[in-house]
Amino acid sequence: MAHQLAGLIQTVVLCSELNFKRSAQMLSHPHHSDTPKPRTALVIFSGGQDSTTCLLQAIAEYGRQQVQTITFHYGQRHAIELERARWIAQDLGVRQTEMDLSLLQSITHNALMDQDTSIETADDGLPNTFVDGRNALFLLYAAIFAKGQGIQDIITGVCETDFSGYPDCRHVFIQSMNVSLNLAMDYSFRLITPLMYLDKAETWALADQLGYLDYVREHTHTCYEGVAGGCGVCPSCVLRERGLRTYLAQKAMANPS
Ligand SMILES: [Zn+2]
Repeated sequence: MAHQLAGLIQTVVLCSELNFKRSAQMLSHPHHSDTPKPRTALVIFSGGQDSTTCLLQAIAEYGRQQVQTITFHYGQRHAIELERARWIAQDLGVRQTEMDLSLLQSITHNALMDQDTSIETADDGLPNTFVDGRNALFLLYAAIFAKGQGIQDIITGVCETDFSGYPDCRHVFIQSMNVSLNLAMDYSFRLITPLMYLDKAETWALADQLGYLDYVREHTHTCYEGVAGGCGVCPSCVLRERGLRTYLAQKAMANPS
């Protein structure tokens, strides 16, 4: 297993280097144009804490007009997530495209999508909220859409620090997917994962640096149980609250009044 993984990483690194060389060649032979095109980005956006923080950072970095969002319906148990995503995209004034991938429901089962399954962790350590193939599918559709819009940068809030149980949140998967997408569409996508190595407290810190701590607290939805304002007991709420408490305690220590 470790051997296979090492082989995969090596392949990915080699492919990444190839892509890098190709990008470098493209940079050294730029198209002649007086006004360079502004960089644009597509944010995979669910209305949760992580993707909202990514969206806010993208707006700060690229400019509001250069950022679009894509939101996937995949048969989530709760409509509240999608409502939050719509509200935030509109409130921040960024374009949002919604895409229906609910056919996923007919071929896989998990606690995020099935109303009558309770949320728990299996013996192999994988929480039953894990949705097989979800991030691969999201990235594929996001990339198809992005290429159609002339966008190369795709931003996703996946993170391997807190949710190490999810294989498709790992950096190695994102690298491998980046290579696959570039090869699949002969296009230089850049999959960007600003939260990859941040823990929840650091993600809160990032929202605060961007000036949106209260905004993210008030308007994002992360609860697995679909409770507005959070149920306080599901793994997602626990992680979110613990991270927030840690961050606020660190902030208070750093700025004693
Ligand atoms: Zn909850």
